[in-house]
Amino acid sequence: MSILLGIDLEDVRDWVENGHSYREAVPETTRIYLKQFKAWGVQATFFVVGNLARRYPQLIAEIAAEGHEIACHGDRHLQLDKLGPQGFREDLQNNLAALRACGVRDIYGFRAPTFSLTKQTAWAHEVLSDLGFTYSSSVLPAKNPLYGWPEFGRSPRKTEAGCWELPVTLLDVPGLRVPAAGGVYFRVLPFLLTNWSIKRTSKAGQPVLTYFHPYDIDTKQERFMHPDLGGKKHLNLLMYIGRARLLPRLDKLRRSLPLIAYRDYVVRLAGGPVETVADGSKLLGE
Ligand SMILES: [Zn+2]
Repeated sequence: MSILLGIDLEDVRDWVENGHSYREAVPETTRIYLKQFKAWGVQATFFVVGNLARRYPQLIAEIAAEGHEIACHGDRHLQLDKLGPQGFREDLQNNLAALRACGVRDIYGFRAPTFSLTKQTAWAHEVLSDLGFTYSSSVLPAKNPLYGWPEFGRSPRKTEAGCWELPVTLLDVPGLRVPAAGGVYFRVLPFLLTNWSIKRTSKAGQPVLTYFHPYDIDTKQERFMHPDLGGKKHLNLLMYIGRARLLPRLDKLRRSLPLIAYRDYVVRLAGGPVETVADGSKLLGE
């Protein structure tokens, strides 16, 4: 089995009060990822927010030029319950237009901001299928204070709407139902536990889905309160821990499990070539 390497490309400053008074870091940290992935000879999936693509078109073009997969992560990083079905459709079309304007051609996947695809917003799979998306990786299959859909199940599967859903991988530890290889959890939890759990998941024939952000490796970021933490200072402290060990930890993992882009797993799952998002002229009504 494989580790699906995912970067949620967004600028955390966009949701922080006076966020843009802090240092600009996304181009620099993204290029650290790019350099490392090149050295390892691996490809990743970058789930890109539309706003960010409009701000850094050259950066998006660079990512695509290195052969990495570009996917959608919402145009303004709004959670699905805040958008509703029609709002989601429009947001996604704007996200696609922003990526195409950077020269991105093949788009297959989507990740909902904050894993906000739940039982209540399951209509999103219909919108995604309708627009031609092959897959979504938007479900956290556990109870969670923010969003979660425990009944979805932990394995990737084709939804009734037609697109595939690849729920994020959880730690295989009773009582600790949090993402195994995502952002802060990957940095902060003991690596022995993470590593053991990932190996177990892989031995059970399941892929290991990861998600990291530009800030996850930003060791120079100023202290500010991160969003979605309810203003809790002890949680915010965790946001700054272990940033220097993220890439070394990934390096250890890749020695036993290959790191691949999401699309390469979906091709395997679907048993053949996958369609890219429906042709732009039709989609954008041009
Ligand atoms: Zn995000």
